[in-house]
Amino acid sequence: MPSLSDLDRVILRTFVPLTAGAGPAPVALAQPTSTLPVSFPPHPRSLSHVASVIRAFTTELYSASLRDSVCSVCAQLHPSSDVQWRAAQSFDFSLLDRSGTGCVRAERLSSADLVPDVQGFILEHRATRIGNGGDLELQICGPCERSLRKKRMPVLALANGLWLGDVPPVLRDLSFVEKLCISRYRHNICVVKLSQGQRKLSGNAIVFGQPI
Ligand SMILES: [Zn+2]
Repeated sequence: MPSLSDLDRVILRTFVPLTAGAGPAPVALAQPTSTLPVSFPPHPRSLSHVASVIRAFTTELYSASLRDSVCSVCAQLHPSSDVQWRAAQSFDFSLLDRSGTGCVRAERLSSADLVPDVQGFILEHRATRIGNGGDLELQICGPCERSLRKKRMPVLALANGLWLGDVPPVLRDLSFVEKLCISRYRHNICVVKLSQGQRKLSGNAIVFGQPI
C-alpha cells in the first residue's frame, strides 16, 4: 500500500473517516447536517428518476414551449405560454382608440399623400380572431392585460404612439447585418460592465448618418 503524505492524511481526516480494510468497497462520508451515512460512490439513479428527468427536459424543449406568439395590443413577440386568448368584451378598449389625436397615422405610399389618422382601435389584427360564439377574441400578453384591467395605457401598446404601420414584406425577417445595412444612422457607444454587475455608458455616444 503506498504511503500517505501529510496532506493526504489531513484530507482523509477531514472528509473521509478512516476505516479498517477500506478498499474498493463504498466508504461512509461524514455528514455534518445529518446522522445518516451517505455511501460513496453514489448508487445509480433509478429508472423512474431517469424517466422523470427526461420528461422534464423534453417538456422544457417541447415545441409549444418554445413557440412565440404576438400580442394584439403591443405587437411584441412573447413565449406562447405568456400570451392568452381573451374575449374582447372583458376589456375597456377606449384607451386604444386614438382617432383624431394625430399620434397614429395611416401608411403613405408617397410624400405627396395626405397624412390621415388611423380610425378605431389600434390592434395587431393578426392576433385577433372570431370565437365560437361569434365574438371578437384577442391574443394578449400579461403586461398589456394588467394595464388595461387597471384602465391604464400599456407602455408598449401600439396606440401609445408606437404605431409604424405594416412592415413591408421585403423588410420582414431581416438578419442583424441586413438591418445594419439599411439603417439610416449608425451609432457607436461603449458600454462597460462594473464590478457590481451593473452596466454604464462610457464616453460619448456618436451617431453617423449613412447614405441610404
Ligand atoms: Zn402586449
